[in-house]
Amino acid sequence: MVDTETTTAEAGRDFIRDIVQADLSSSRTQAVVTRFPPEPNGFLHLGHAKSICLNFGIAGEFGGACHLRFDDTNPVKEEQLFADSIQRDVRWLGFDWGEHLYYASDYFEQLYTWAEHLIRTGHAYVDDTPSDQMRSQRGTLTEPGQNSPFRYRSVEENLDLFRRMRAGEYPNGTRVLRAKIDMASGNMNLRDPVLYRILHAHHPRTGDAWCIYPTYDYAHGQSDAIELITHSVCTLEFEDHRPLYDWLLDHLPVPSRPRQFEFARLNLSYTVLSKRHLTRLVTEKHVTGWDDPRMPTIAGIRRRGVPAVALREFISRVGVARAYSTVDVAMLDSAIRDTLNPVAPRRMAVLRPLKLIIENYPEGVTESLEARNHPDNPDAGTRQVTFGRELYVEQDDFMEEPPKKFYRLSPGKEVRLRYAYFVTCREIVKDASGTVVALRCTYDPASKGGNSPDGRKVQATLHWVAAADAVPAEIRLYSHLFTRPDPGADGDILADLNPESLEVVSGCLLEPALLDAQIGEAVQFERSGYFALDPDSRPGRPVFNRTVGLRDTWAKVQASTKA
Ligand code: ATP
Ligand code: MG
Repeated sequence: MVDTETTTAEAGRDFIRDIVQADLSSSRTQAVVTRFPPEPNGFLHLGHAKSICLNFGIAGEFGGACHLRFDDTNPVKEEQLFADSIQRDVRWLGFDWGEHLYYASDYFEQLYTWAEHLIRTGHAYVDDTPSDQMRSQRGTLTEPGQNSPFRYRSVEENLDLFRRMRAGEYPNGTRVLRAKIDMASGNMNLRDPVLYRILHAHHPRTGDAWCIYPTYDYAHGQSDAIELITHSVCTLEFEDHRPLYDWLLDHLPVPSRPRQFEFARLNLSYTVLSKRHLTRLVTEKHVTGWDDPRMPTIAGIRRRGVPAVALREFISRVGVARAYSTVDVAMLDSAIRDTLNPVAPRRMAVLRPLKLIIENYPEGVTESLEARNHPDNPDAGTRQVTFGRELYVEQDDFMEEPPKKFYRLSPGKEVRLRYAYFVTCREIVKDASGTVVALRCTYDPASKGGNSPDGRKVQATLHWVAAADAVPAEIRLYSHLFTRPDPGADGDILADLNPESLEVVSGCLLEPALLDAQIGEAVQFERSGYFALDPDSRPGRPVFNRTVGLRDTWAKVQASTKA
């Protein structure tokens, strides 16, 4: 469960929590039971994280339970790999379902028994109408549907046909079981919805035991009732399904009476949050996998280096409402920065190295300097960094002909090297093609530690690494996977893929302390951003992912491309 501090702060903060609180106060609910019901047909994404934080959050705050229930009613698309990844991701997010792990498929026999109950009470019938014809008989939003000619079958005939459907006597799609409700209902979901379809398919858990499978609408509410769920919280698309949810509970001898409540799903700018689209990105190899750090999946975000606490912080900032909205992806980035800034150890890494030779520093000598691990937190301690005659700084930190306000290195300019000394650029070394390959500098030995005894000021402090012990590394810089805030708005999402969403920078140089980095631990590369070790790393050849930059550079990029 999430630590109590965050959870109490969240208590009673949105309309769903208000409902739960009111139900507990009035004793309508004795103990709250919620559930998170993923279909195991893909990895969880940020939208699911919202639902997980809400359902598990409520259970934790109000002393109840939250069940993890796999909605595995569609055997064709589901895989164990996905069920495993879902459990891993929910746990990683910080939640625990205890002994409450369930599968809708565990209820197949009960659901079947209840379907026969509906038939016996005259509330369900077997329909042989071909599916295209059934569709046209359904009517439209403005016109009522027509009754199927099979609607008037006797209970005996329906029971016989339904049992033979189960026994496997009919091919796929030849018959369905439908609820007998109202073909003229203003709510399309009540126009005799399908409860069972024939599907001769192997199910990962029930094997070949079944060749008829319940629909989502039929399985869901009844599963809730079996598990004694009190508050069945889902997204707004299911609002129109609620009358059917209630109708089924009203017409079946279920052991409890759950209620459904809807909230607005999470939408994020520059991001797609739909398993259908995400599956396509993976299967068509537009990304390296479900855990590609550019993916909005929990696995991708984790691999990028985002800690679970940052994700929970983001979800809590987004809040829960009934109004549709799109959240600016910059909000995710700032939640990540705000979470990492106070805790991430500072390190020095040079992405695009430019050699700096300190002419008045003795050859063949190095010294060890103390560097703080965190500027605001002395408890984070210090580490030693090596300084010597040959160093590397960022190519970007030098300009031969600097414009006004460029305070970093340029001919004649003095700057501070972090935790070290003041250096002055004396001479530029170029190769035959005129490219700057090194800078010859001098240093002021009296400025050790970064201050000059005469009170001389410099306007820039640069990060650096020593040639003597720098570690080569690959660094992967990520940017949004899509170029527009509403990917796919003009049709195909692929047309909006950002061709520059991944930049691999090789030949980067790191201070050796970074060899101790662990997967899943964020570090700040000074002046650059937050980074995390990628599992692609090999001993002595680290690969780092940029989790997020120090500032929102994307806004600037957008502004400049518009200009
Ligand atoms: P998708 O729309 O991505 O295909 P889904 O709703 O089909 O997702 P499920 O596995 O059925 O995926 O979802 C499990 C739970 O997560 C459901 O209760 C669903 O309402 C919730 N959920 C899915 N997407 C979002 C979202 N964007 N925001 C909030 N909750 C979501
Ligand atoms: Mg779904």
